[in-house]
Amino acid sequence: MFYDTHAHLNAEVFTDNLEDIIKEANEALVSYINVVGFDPKTNELANKIAKTHEFIYASSGLHPVDIENISLSHLKEVEDYLKQDVTVAVGECGLDYYWNKETKAKQIKYFKKQIELSKKYQKPLIIHVRDAIQDAYDILYEASKDGLLQGVMHCFSGSKEMALEFLDLGLYISLGGPVTFKNAVEPIEVAKIVPIDKLLIETDCPYLAPHPYRGKLNKPVYVKIVAEAIASIREMNIEDVATYTTNNAKKLFKLN
Ligand SMILES: [Zn+2]
Repeated sequence: MFYDTHAHLNAEVFTDNLEDIIKEANEALVSYINVVGFDPKTNELANKIAKTHEFIYASSGLHPVDIENISLSHLKEVEDYLKQDVTVAVGECGLDYYWNKETKAKQIKYFKKQIELSKKYQKPLIIHVRDAIQDAYDILYEASKDGLLQGVMHCFSGSKEMALEFLDLGLYISLGGPVTFKNAVEPIEVAKIVPIDKLLIETDCPYLAPHPYRGKLNKPVYVKIVAEAIASIREMNIEDVATYTTNNAKKLFKLN
């Protein structure tokens, strides 16, 4: 059984074929899926999809790339979703200086506020970081001091040394399609060294489809390809990768 811990089934591209995509995933034993919101509209849709499908859960958050259009009332909406059982995480949230450097200060402000919400509702963070790893680390390091920090570095793209630093803060590491890419270097090194009880898998669909579907539409069924790649890198069998990563996710997202 597989758990795709990061899927954007709330993306527009899935509007017309959502049920087929979910059925295809379930038939391939991708039994659990987190639908991850990133702005007010996708948070609402994630909530709706999770409420109407068994074993699909929602994460509610405000993505750093879209932060310029965000206000505190949107944060209040995130908080309202966090009061519901179908919402298992806060995010995706974090820092992204690759797509948007001008909003740095606002990104940091909203990242910190979402960390506070994560602690208040004891629901883990789903953290996005791009070209901002040191700032993200510094913020998370400060936030870890009270022992209440919990979350996952989603689609982790940093070095193995940085992975170890985030693991030290008590965070999980999630790997997706890039670990299957022909030119992958760092994700493969990271896949080797993350303790098996701290590893999650994801697709980040519709983006980042794994090899040999790179550049095409990604979907939750492909999380098996990610698991296969990790199994081969770690010289494990895929069933064990599936069992560990599913149990890790169920623990982090507090599913019974
Ligand atoms: Zn995402």
